[in-house]
Amino acid sequence: MVPRKRAAAKKHAAKKPAGKSVAAKKPAAKKPAAKRPAFSGTRPTSTRAVSVPKPGTVPASAGASPYDIPYTGAPLGAHVSTSGGVATAPPRGVDIGATAIQLFTKQANQWKERLFDEAEVAAFRQALAATPVAFTNAHDSYLINLASPNPDLRAKSITSFEYEMRRGNALGLDAVVSHPGNFMDDRASGIARNADAIIDVLERVTGPTRLLMELTAGQGTVIGSTFEEMAALLARLPAALQVRVGVCLDTAHVFAAGYDLVNDFDGVMARFGDVLGFHRLGMLHLNDSKAPLGSKKDRHELIGAGFIGDGAFRRIMTEPRLAAIPKSLETPKGDDLVSNDRAMLRKLRAFARGERAPERAGPGAMPAPRHRIRT
Ligand SMILES: [Zn+2]
Ligand SMILES: [Zn+2]
Repeated sequence: MVPRKRAAAKKHAAKKPAGKSVAAKKPAAKKPAAKRPAFSGTRPTSTRAVSVPKPGTVPASAGASPYDIPYTGAPLGAHVSTSGGVATAPPRGVDIGATAIQLFTKQANQWKERLFDEAEVAAFRQALAATPVAFTNAHDSYLINLASPNPDLRAKSITSFEYEMRRGNALGLDAVVSHPGNFMDDRASGIARNADAIIDVLERVTGPTRLLMELTAGQGTVIGSTFEEMAALLARLPAALQVRVGVCLDTAHVFAAGYDLVNDFDGVMARFGDVLGFHRLGMLHLNDSKAPLGSKKDRHELIGAGFIGDGAFRRIMTEPRLAAIPKSLETPKGDDLVSNDRAMLRKLRAFARGERAPERAGPGAMPAPRHRIRT
């Protein structure tokens, strides 16, 4: 899950008025002014005119951003805001040095649904094509619970999930990431309800966008916090749909669920390979955890500042079985919405190069906001 609390609340607040979004019925003048500029970074203009990679390829040097560092691995990026319209997301990715972006295609904490019109889709695709961003995914609404025993909530969730898939396909996103639901009454029934809902929607909505079910932290009655349970959920899908569905591994979630990435990285990887298989791994969410191993709490932290620590992320960034897997951060953004992400991406790229510490100087230098000592 994308970090909630302060950073997420800010992000949501900033996301509200979506420019000329079709669904935004309020006139622009009535929109509450954001507390910060809609886009606080320097949006690349001429510097963005770099060679555009073919779709699905990774540029040898993602040099579109002054904050980027050449990197030849899989797409690497972060969740970015769509404040001002969905087409603003790709340049925001460029601004933090991302070659992968995750976004919400609606207000994630509201039921209200929408589809994009042709102009919005065209603007997004055009904006994306002008960047080195090579992997795009949406994260579905937090309200969706496809496993709910409550018929009304489940029906509402299925409708909302269908819209998520329709919007993802319309934009041509590589994936929609979805959280398994909360079973509430009985675990096995919940898994069946969740799987049936996925089948229902994927049989009605087709397109290029893959569904990635995200491994969860295990809080409350949520499904999918063990590799076995995720495998059981996916096993219920017919073969024709299984090829359209994969898994998103969130490092903070699996750590909180009890998988010890710190002391048993190889063991966790082996277990994932045995139970789910790396062919199912569609993307990684790279988050450190504010909550300890096995806590079942979903609390994201800056890379290296939580219970997981730098070591496991060094392993992830150099692990051959993860080398081709797109990776996105969902770590706290901080006040300016760009500095932390720039610093995190620099750090991860340094890890990928086998360096122990990222380069320090420069606009993307690690601000370490929580532990800052003024000198
Ligand atoms: Zn999530
Ligand atoms: Zn996540």
